[in-house]
Amino acid sequence: MREETFKNKILKGIGVSSGIASGTVYLLERGKIPVIKRTIKAEQTEKEVNRFKNAVKDAIGELNTIKQSIPDDEVRKHSFIIDAHILMLQDDFFSKNVVDVIRRDRINAEWALDMVVSKFMASFETIEDTYFRERAQDLKYIYDRLMRILVKGKTPTIEKKTKAERGIIVAHDLSPADTIQLNLNKISGFVTDVGGRTSHTSIVARALEIPAVVGVGNITSLVKDNDRIIVDGDEGIVIINPTTEVQKEYISKQMRLKNIKKEFLRIAKLKSETKDGFKIKVGANIELIAEMDIVEKYGAQGIGLYRTEYIYLSRKTLPTETEHFHIYKKLAENRNLEYVTIRTLDIGGDKFVSEIEMAKEINPAMGLRAIRLCIKEVDLFKSQLKGILRASAYGPLKILIPMISGLDEIRKTKEILKECMEELEHKKIDFNRDIELGIMIEVPATCMISDILAKEVDFFSIGTNDLIQYTLAIDRINEYVSYLYEPLHPAVLRMIKHVVDVAHTNEIEVAMCGEMAGEALYIPVLIGLGLDELSMNPYSVPKAKKIVRGLEHSYCKDLLFELMKQESHKKAELILRKEMARLFPQDFIMCYEE
Ligand code: PEP
Ligand code: MG
Repeated sequence: MREETFKNKILKGIGVSSGIASGTVYLLERGKIPVIKRTIKAEQTEKEVNRFKNAVKDAIGELNTIKQSIPDDEVRKHSFIIDAHILMLQDDFFSKNVVDVIRRDRINAEWALDMVVSKFMASFETIEDTYFRERAQDLKYIYDRLMRILVKGKTPTIEKKTKAERGIIVAHDLSPADTIQLNLNKISGFVTDVGGRTSHTSIVARALEIPAVVGVGNITSLVKDNDRIIVDGDEGIVIINPTTEVQKEYISKQMRLKNIKKEFLRIAKLKSETKDGFKIKVGANIELIAEMDIVEKYGAQGIGLYRTEYIYLSRKTLPTETEHFHIYKKLAENRNLEYVTIRTLDIGGDKFVSEIEMAKEINPAMGLRAIRLCIKEVDLFKSQLKGILRASAYGPLKILIPMISGLDEIRKTKEILKECMEELEHKKIDFNRDIELGIMIEVPATCMISDILAKEVDFFSIGTNDLIQYTLAIDRINEYVSYLYEPLHPAVLRMIKHVVDVAHTNEIEVAMCGEMAGEALYIPVLIGLGLDELSMNPYSVPKAKKIVRGLEHSYCKDLLFELMKQESHKKAELILRKEMARLFPQDFIMCYEE
């Protein structure tokens, strides 16, 4: 236990789930397990192999017990993450690797496990995409559980710790099994040393609306049980033992946020329409179907982007057509969603889908990814497409294809889709023959030939995250060039305008689903451009509706005209910020340089 007590110590991390929590610390401290390394005699190897195999069985047993004793209905929805860990443990490839090392090197099970997992983890670390890199955590959770069983018995559960009063969990990291065991009525916040926006804790915290800050670095070594702590999930700040004044300040901020949220929930139910009657759909971007409740609560009309990559993670075998079908059917059957846009698999290069053997690429962002991979791995693509088609019999699903760069890719996609339809017809399985097929506009070439592509598809969806990356030649995950991310760059504005105009000339709808669509500042620009739909993080929907409802379409068109005359992003942004501060003084502050 730590002796030192910090006073008003401020730590910075990544705010991953909005809101403010204030309470006492529940420190979840397990510490690192020392790995005992021993060589063993030849006649002992089989005994060691069995010891490892028994540990795997025990770990599966523990996870099943955790699953069955989940205390809360809301949390039960997330137990699929535990299933994924069980699948990994049951996976022969993983166990065989460890067993082979025990036999080959004649070393104890702990050492062999450490060697194998270190090797796997090293290959995860080379992955550029944060989302997938963070999946290495799954392996780490399994490793920790197995190691504890091998070293000294079962992994301690954390349930008891959270039985008393309401508090804030502070941990090095929380495994899905940990998160799921928590009695959430007793938890008002999460803080972890490690993690990012897409780590499990973050996803669960957001889905359950519990304020959370991750990636704080070393908080577990700075706090002790019952320290007071403030968690600001919007600013990504944690304060240990705040002074009374700071506490008061945060209590009033908490009240303010609660009132804003109440107001947002009221706005969430209203229509997304400008004062002069221009309608623009507001949709949600999701990664898990568990986010459906949040999507409805915050008033999205439909789902503009379902990133299906998560379905492929944490597993050895690829999802089957039937698995895809059941997932998409749940979305299709939700009568509160006017439409659900399912984007087909958008990974590749060195990103992690263990079943697919792929060459190492120097520049994976421009490598064999997304549709390029799907066209190469046709079976993989077909099982997803057939899953979507089958679910389309139950509700308004659309198909969205990522990273299209030319006509041939669309033609090939349509050919594969047609084959899928014929196969289902042959089996007399029902589906929507007129399902809409759209493409992401996220490669500059696609903008330039959008007139050709518009004749081939039913809708466009502009992915500004990638479009800006490729247009301005800035790596979207490289912090050194992030200052160059400029949605109002004249080149970006001209491209978007061109795509919207082309889409409308060809009488197809055009959405935007990159981060730009969810930033309130840009909404007048996007209305001026004439986009049909904006799709964003579900929590941003009410604010977007508020801004839409406070504007006039005619004004937005004039403003866009003015902005498009500017030579640089900076000048355009200055004009826009001034205007927004004038029109929405409560939401935008006049902080700009002349
Ligand atoms: C985009 O590129 O803007 C987009 C929405 O897709 P993702 O962020 O998943 O690449
Ligand atoms: Mg993209």
